Amino acid sequence: MSGQTLQAPRGTADLLGDRAKALAEVRELCAQILGQAGYEPIETPAFEATELFARGVGEATDIVQKEMYTFTDGSGRSLTLRPEGTAAVCRAYIEHGMHRRPAPVRLWYFGPFFRYERAQAGRYRQFWQVGVEAFGSPDPALDAELIVLLVRIARALGVERTELRLSSLGKPESRDRYRQALQAFLRSREDELAAEVRARIDQNPLRAFDSKDPGTQAVMAEAPLLLDFLDEEDLAHLEAVRELLGEAGIDHRLDPRLVRGLDYYTQTVFELVCPDLGAQSGVGGGGRYDRLVAQLGGPPTPAGGFAAGIERLLLAAGRFDGRFLDPAPDLYLLYTTTPASRDQRRRAFGILASLWEAGLAAQLEVTGRSLRRGLAQAAKVGARLAVLVGEEDRVALKDLGSGEQWTVPADRLVAVAKERLGGNGHPA
Ligand code: AMP
Repeated sequence: MSGQTLQAPRGTADLLGDRAKALAEVRELCAQILGQAGYEPIETPAFEATELFARGVGEATDIVQKEMYTFTDGSGRSLTLRPEGTAAVCRAYIEHGMHRRPAPVRLWYFGPFFRYERAQAGRYRQFWQVGVEAFGSPDPALDAELIVLLVRIARALGVERTELRLSSLGKPESRDRYRQALQAFLRSREDELAAEVRARIDQNPLRAFDSKDPGTQAVMAEAPLLLDFLDEEDLAHLEAVRELLGEAGIDHRLDPRLVRGLDYYTQTVFELVCPDLGAQSGVGGGGRYDRLVAQLGGPPTPAGGFAAGIERLLLAAGRFDGRFLDPAPDLYLLYTTTPASRDQRRRAFGILASLWEAGLAAQLEVTGRSLRRGLAQAAKVGARLAVLVGEEDRVALKDLGSGEQWTVPADRLVAVAKERLGGNGHPA
């Protein structure tokens, strides 16, 4: 129906002003930090074959069972808006034969992801992630490198109070033995568990650790722990990661109950938590996934990665509002008369284009404000100089701070403005 106003879907948000700037700024910062460590950017499509996530993320996970936006396209294919990045990056790694490149292959991405979740503060249905994946090394230094990079990104954004939780899920064989022990334990205490946990004893018993139900939590405090089921190799790997983190000055806490909601992890798992965020306190997390590439049809490839939520990082940094301010324009172009003549408009536009070309930040008055109102607007947006374009080929340049004014030939304007602004105006 025409005329009815529409709103963005629940759990999504338009990013306006400072928020949109914050997003661009975080991306830039990630590019710096990750580029410095040898990571190359990769962008994969926003949707993939549904099967990729069923196979890559795991049939029994919450993501695949409840949270995917899946649809059928015009030719009857089942497609899904990406709920996470790792499976798609592995698909691209295999599809483009990146395993033939010298290892390790280090990649990073930044973009929107989609999950049908209960929308609340810090939990959205479209959210942004920066993600990092590194292929081709079983070295614990790779695990430690990923963790250091996650912490570096958070710190660079000004997230101060964080806690790094670390654990190991071991090799799949250790995990299977543990799973059986945990299932037996859960069955022995079945009547004390929440219905939801009980229903998943067979499919996904580890998720019982994430339950918010007090009865379940009491039971889980006595549950067997995966760390006690790890073999020597797994324990040595975990120890090595801890030692390297110590070397990098990164505090961490061993958290034997850390269960990441994705099935593909092997050995190292970690999560960066910001307690100030309340219920949605996970800022980022990841781990090693040595079996995933083979599981998706590629050659056996040890690998690991992490993803961090951009909105969460910004919330944790207290920077979602306010602190991302544009550099004010250097110059504001105005007409001396309203309405301006065709010739004035033509010359003003030529000047605007030449100022931009010279690397200066400039804005043209395009709403028909009078000279007086236009000057007020120029001051309001924080411009340093106003350019008053009249009927002649000369323009007046007004310093909005001191009120001084000069007449300048139009073809000298760029040089004079640069001189007045000191160097190149605002830093790029
Ligand atoms: P995950 O892929 O579930 O390990 O998530 C990695 C990070 O992405 C989390 O630590 C959050 O910061 C962020 N994240 C995950 N799901 C959401 C969501 N629904 N809304 C906002 N951020 C999210």
